Amino acid sequence: MTPTPIARPIDKRTAKAVEIAAGAGQWLRCRTRDGRKFFGIRSQADPNRIYFVTRDACTCPDAARAPMLQCKHQIAVRLHCAAVRARQQAHPLAIAA
Ligand SMILES: [Zn+2]
Repeated sequence: MTPTPIARPIDKRTAKAVEIAAGAGQWLRCRTRDGRKFFGIRSQADPNRIYFVTRDACTCPDAARAPMLQCKHQIAVRLHCAAVRARQQAHPLAIAA
């Protein structure tokens, strides 16, 4: 019997998402008129291009064909939001990034 691996191997999209999330300090922070937050994230392939990303949507071409419609930008935003939440829980008085 083979032991069950604890972590699944990270696919390429997730590996890139981790890279993008590491650069979260460079993201544009924006809000829609109705107050929803979204980020402007620079394309890795074309630095002149910015994608607008929320946890559930992205304007990049990959968003339409990625599994579960989750491109690397959306995964990066989710990673970033989880990291911010974890920091806030650790230091409740810290100002949100
Ligand atoms: Zn995307």
